[in-house]
Parts: sequence; C-alpha cells; structure tokens
Amino acid sequence: MYIREIFDYELDNIFNLSEMLVIKVMKKYLEEHPRVCRCGVCLEDMYALALNRIPAKYVQDDFSEHFYDRMLDYHNAERKIIQAIEQISGNPHHDYNVKPYKK
Ligand SMILES: [Zn+2]
Repeated sequence: MYIREIFDYELDNIFNLSEMLVIKVMKKYLEEHPRVCRCGVCLEDMYALALNRIPAKYVQDDFSEHFYDRMLDYHNAERKIIQAIEQISGNPHHDYNVKPYKK
C-alpha cells in the first residue's frame, strides 16, 4: 500500500485541490447528463484523464471552495475536465457485456 509519510510523519494534511475540482465538475456534469455511463471503469477513466490534463495544486490543511478561484485557472481547468469526460463517454473502455449503470 502506498503510504504518504516521511521520517514517520504522515502527510495527511496535504490535499491536491485539482482532485477536488475534478470530482466537483464530474458530479455536476453527470447530474446534467444522465445518459453518460457512470460505471466504475468510466468514472475512473474520466477522473484519471481529467487529472492528467490539469496541473496538480497541492495545499496544506483544510480549504474552502473560494480557493478554487484564487489557486486555479478555474474556467480553463473546468473546460479541460469536461473535455476529458466527453472523450471517455464517447469512447468508453468498459466491457460491453456488462450493462453500464443507468441512473
Ligand atoms: Zn462505463
């Protein structure tokens, strides 16, 4: 298992704001587009592809949603995340023998 620690100090207070932003945008997009597959394979593909397309933004301790505006190029990142979601939903890698989840 991957453990984030150095000299016995656990780095649990470090968060990647980009991960939070991807989850936020994915939830909103999937709520607005109920026909898009949300099986585990597609969700993981969307999440990973979106994260690879925006810069990581690590911060210490807790944060509020206001940080998104100050710390990220929010609209540019949102556009890249949506492009990743649409790329996966248009070309899913899930097993076609398994019925995709439908809301
Ligand atoms: Zn799927």
